[in-house]
Amino acid sequence: MMKQICQSCGMPLIQKGIDLRGSERGNTKSEKYCSYCYGNGAFLQPTMTKEQMIKRGIEGIQRSKSNKLVKWIFVKSYPVQLNQLERWRNQ
Ligand SMILES: [Zn+2]
Repeated sequence: MMKQICQSCGMPLIQKGIDLRGSERGNTKSEKYCSYCYGNGAFLQPTMTKEQMIKRGIEGIQRSKSNKLVKWIFVKSYPVQLNQLERWRNQ
């Protein structure tokens, strides 16, 4: 069954009706990872650390159009959310 959010960065795999899933080998859609993290069956940045992902995620949140309070909540909760994702869970 498809996960609702990318198990690497936490982004929704379907956003506003747009399919952002990455690809497996053979070009089927990944059920776990988005196209920013994953393609052709592998992570695009395989050596990325959790800290680097947190930095990237927070930058994305800061660039978004949400209001300040929503951004603050996302920034605070992002590292916690990452710990629950498959890529980072056991680190
Ligand atoms: Zn992702």
